[in-house]
Amino acid sequence: MADAEVSNKRVILKQFVTGFPTEDDMELVTATVRLAVPPGSASVMVKNLYVSCDPYMRNRMSEHNDAAYIEQFVPGEPVLGIFGVSKVVASGHPDFKAGDLVWGLTGCEEYSVITHPESLFKINHPELPLSYYTGVLGMPGVTAYAGFFDVSKPKKGDYVFVSAASGAVGQLVGQLAKIAGCYVVGSAGSDEKVSLLKTKFGFDDAFNYKKEQDLNATLKRCFPLGIDIYFENVGGAMLDAVLLNMRMHGRIAVCGMISQYNLEKPDGAPNLFCLVAKRIRMEGFMVLDYFNTYTKFEKEMAGYLKEGKIIFVEDVVEGIEKVPAALIGLFSGRNVGKQLVIIARE
Ligand code: NAP
Repeated sequence: MADAEVSNKRVILKQFVTGFPTEDDMELVTATVRLAVPPGSASVMVKNLYVSCDPYMRNRMSEHNDAAYIEQFVPGEPVLGIFGVSKVVASGHPDFKAGDLVWGLTGCEEYSVITHPESLFKINHPELPLSYYTGVLGMPGVTAYAGFFDVSKPKKGDYVFVSAASGAVGQLVGQLAKIAGCYVVGSAGSDEKVSLLKTKFGFDDAFNYKKEQDLNATLKRCFPLGIDIYFENVGGAMLDAVLLNMRMHGRIAVCGMISQYNLEKPDGAPNLFCLVAKRIRMEGFMVLDYFNTYTKFEKEMAGYLKEGKIIFVEDVVEGIEKVPAALIGLFSGRNVGKQLVIIARE
């Protein structure tokens, strides 16, 4: 099979996106690829098994983005440099051999040539579901762990609020907060998600933000003594209401602001002066800065999963042609749990 030429379905970004992305912004094309790496190159060729749909991918679809931290996708070209789980089919790199299971940066296509294999991690726990390496054991897992422990610096008994709480990152932050002995409340966009937070993930309380008229009053109801830690995933009106409800010396770990990603003119936060009055530390962070801690993280998180201390809910669809719908669904809250797409069975 190695060195054969095979067809390679790929998702292309058709054009830069303004406003909410649609399925029509992407298309599926079929190319061919040789299952080999050029002689003398240190590249790795992989067969992609799962690709991850993540909110940051929207930022890479904009032509102009003053807050860009990663390069844009190229219109007319495949969507490359996204997270996935893959199997090595050919390798010129000494650290990888055919048959290895890896996760890391790959392409939204059936086969990818990875020219920078240092972005790949070996999968050390094949006894756990492989798809977990797009989520709890992959990028969102590291995000939740680093953002909660390193940026938020929790103490036992802290009052913790998590937005987009049923998503890939949020569900883990809530469970880590319980492990750390905190009181944790989550917000989500449907009653089904709210029920999941309370019954499956062990949040102490949760609410459907779409049903609340006055977020300030809702947070006062949930946190009569105020919030010590806000794990920020959404921005906008939620952030502004949270600012009014923070305690003195509270911490806001700014993970993301999904409510802002499709806006041409982002919202402001009129209550920002609360940072001064309440001596709040508000700090953004990037998961990329924490991948050097991955080995330790993987061991600890795999342990929690095996002991049943952490559970993980995924929203799985099958078929590369489903990627556009799965990706845009993140921005209407269609996903319940971590959104991923099966590209091929192993
Ligand atoms: P996710 O929560 O699994 O999926 C996105 C969810 O966001 C949707 O299901 C939806 O849930 C919610 N949402 C969408 N539009 C919204 C809006 N206008 N207002 C409020 N909520 C909205 O995504 P994730 O992968 O866990 O990512 C969560 C956040 O973390 C995102 O902001 C992402 O950019 C960020 N992130 C940051 C890093 C980093 O390195 N800093 C790494 C990974 C992720 P509802 O039904 O609850 O609305």
